[in-house]
Amino acid sequence: MDTAKDSVLVVSAHAADFVWRAGGAIALYHSRGCRVRVLCLSYGERGESERLWREPGMTLERVKEVRHAEAERAAKILGAEIRFFDAGDYPLRPTAELVEELVQEFRRTQPTIVLTHTLSDPYNGDHPEAARLAMEARVYAQAAGYPSEAKKVGAPPVFLFEPHQPEMCEFKPQVLLDITPVFGHKRMAMECMEAQEHLWEYYTQLALRRGTQAVRNSGQKGIKYAEAFQRVYPQVTDELA
Ligand SMILES: [Zn+2]
Repeated sequence: MDTAKDSVLVVSAHAADFVWRAGGAIALYHSRGCRVRVLCLSYGERGESERLWREPGMTLERVKEVRHAEAERAAKILGAEIRFFDAGDYPLRPTAELVEELVQEFRRTQPTIVLTHTLSDPYNGDHPEAARLAMEARVYAQAAGYPSEAKKVGAPPVFLFEPHQPEMCEFKPQVLLDITPVFGHKRMAMECMEAQEHLWEYYTQLALRRGTQAVRNSGQKGIKYAEAFQRVYPQVTDELA
């Protein structure tokens, strides 16, 4: 499989989402020599930093600093570049400036693979908002007439990461990605997220379950850990496999 020319763009609503949901994919593509760039739209400072808010005297700025440092460490372990937009959470609101910046990110990065959230999530509206922003920016980045110094992008497939409660988010595991060789990196990156320690084991168990399902669906007995994704657009292929 020649994936060395791939370039992966990950649009994450909050500071830790890309780690739980796509840490394996990120580490895998990095291990193959691909560029992986994470766009972290907000820190999840209000909604996904419960433990930090229990500390006395905590402030919004301090929560952001902690989440920034954690996500930066995790991205480094996974081998990804990361950019923080600090666009706010609860709510993450799309602005014209944010869309414009995302379009230019697509143009400059020229991704061949896009990873983002599901378009439905009744538990956290920021997740579908981030997905809508990613899809909107991708479409504008494809348009010849959109002003940019960088050339327009092709048609990179969009893969949606597995949400916390997939059945509630209309998520179907259409793609099971074998992340066995890099799972150690994913676990190390998850452990950077000290504010959400309760999720480390949860996402390890999920990777094991998806790994077992990957074996069942492929017969490849060497798979131990996997991540699930759902496609937005049809797969284009010259062979049915
Ligand atoms: Zn989130």
